[in-house]
Amino acid sequence: MLPPFANEALTDFSQPAAQAAFEAALAQVHARLGRSYPLVIDGREIHGLPEFASSNPSQPAQAIGHFAQGGADPADQAVAAAARAFETWKRTPVSERASYLLRAAAEMRRRKHEFSAMMVLEVGKPWNEADADTAEAIDFLEYYARQALRITDSSAQLTHSPGEALGLYYIPLGVGAVIPPWNFPCAIPTGMLGSALVTGNTVVFKPAEQSPAIAWMAAELFWQQGLPPGVLNFLTGPGEVVGARMVEHPLTRFVSFTGSREVGIHIYETTARVQPGQRWLKRAILEMGGKEGSLVDETADADEAAAGIVTSAFGFQGQKCSAASRAILVDAIYDRVVSAVVERARSLRVGAPESSHSVQMGPVVDAEAMQRILRYIEIGRQDGVLLCGGHAIETPEGGYFIEPTVFGDIPPNSRLAQEEVFGPVLAVIRARDFEHGLEIANNTEYGLTGALYSARRDRLETARRDFHVGNLYLNRKCTGAMVGVNPFGGFDMSGTDSKAGGPDYLLLFTQAKSVTERL
Ligand code: NAD
Repeated sequence: MLPPFANEALTDFSQPAAQAAFEAALAQVHARLGRSYPLVIDGREIHGLPEFASSNPSQPAQAIGHFAQGGADPADQAVAAAARAFETWKRTPVSERASYLLRAAAEMRRRKHEFSAMMVLEVGKPWNEADADTAEAIDFLEYYARQALRITDSSAQLTHSPGEALGLYYIPLGVGAVIPPWNFPCAIPTGMLGSALVTGNTVVFKPAEQSPAIAWMAAELFWQQGLPPGVLNFLTGPGEVVGARMVEHPLTRFVSFTGSREVGIHIYETTARVQPGQRWLKRAILEMGGKEGSLVDETADADEAAAGIVTSAFGFQGQKCSAASRAILVDAIYDRVVSAVVERARSLRVGAPESSHSVQMGPVVDAEAMQRILRYIEIGRQDGVLLCGGHAIETPEGGYFIEPTVFGDIPPNSRLAQEEVFGPVLAVIRARDFEHGLEIANNTEYGLTGALYSARRDRLETARRDFHVGNLYLNRKCTGAMVGVNPFGGFDMSGTDSKAGGPDYLLLFTQAKSVTERL
């Protein structure tokens, strides 16, 4: 009997003991930087391929690890290995599959700071953000283990039919291509792997090029629990080669993808095309980008709204799919909210996150991201008024730092107000009134997260009904969805609304078999 699910507690880094423990974990991870990592196919390590480096965005010359540049051949081998392993893994009792997740969760909890420290170094997460990422990974394992036990045999929910014995069983699909992004590099891959495996599927896992070291730690955690060979195969290399081949392979049964709109659409189209030898219609579970709108009306508490907006706009440097990227302020409260937002944004401490727990904003993930964000800053200069930030920050080590940046009076149809920036840039948009603000908020092709700050019950209810997003927050910040508490996934071009961390999520990795026996 399992205790009920409860979210993992976060670390209080104001405590000296917690700081010391985290510094020790950083030193431990430092000691193994620069090693080479293989591909893992059918339980066997494959060495000797050309390599690419994953590097620390605070000091790009520091290699975190060297990873195999996989290609289409290893992808084919991995899918074939996963297909063979599926024949036995699918028959493994769900209680046994769930126990792998629970043991992995226990081990990750023991080594929590080590996982977080790797994220600090590999993607530049501030300590509290990395700690929350690891806690979410543990939550996914604990939550999906419990959900798998709940859903697998749903026969009891059927209506009685006299003279017949009825069964409704949620059985696995087959081989899954698991393709996560780099921005929640522990939580998202762990959740995607845990959900696919616990429901009886086998997987080929290809992490993002920016975060393979933390992905390796997550995969290793599963292998260390004694997962049979071929159940979880690990490939690294360019997404457009390795990931593309995994998606297109005729033995792939489903794709579990989280990432950008562009790649998500490409995968959607590829999975729809039936390949020679393919015997099923592939399922595509796609979670994509966002263009959050935080709407503040004239009845809201301006300071509280500003605090929520700044936390969600600049947390992890704005590199969250849920990040506040548009503050839509009703004219009557515009000036008060803007001045509070700018004051808070200016006071954020930017620096290399490994240097101190007090750093609130680290670097953006790589040179390409930095160039893209700076291009959006140029658009902001043309289309609106620069209120703070607006520059890259030079450091001796050449880290990818950008000031927290706020633009005022951005027109609702500016590219800055329509496209996902994925960086520390907030577009402030002026609305005539609440109704106009809601119209602006809904006027993007994305539909992931949104927030309304208002003291009026009727407006909160209007937003509950008409604010068209998968995750709506009323009078609170729009980031920090918790497993089991705020099931997470978006509408429209934000994806297939798969609601990770929610009670329906695991069904996506199964197919229902209805069995009727005449008695
Ligand atoms: P990305 O789309 O560039 O890459 C995501 C993954 O896809 C990577 O592993 C990459 O290697 C792989 N890939 C790239 N091209 C591919 C191809 N042709 N075929 C198969 N795989 C391919 O995204 P990213 O930069 O890693 O992540 C940031 C994006 O993720 C943002 O748009 C963000 O909003 C989104 N995101 C969404 C959610 C959500 O829950 N909706 C959560 C986190 C991030």
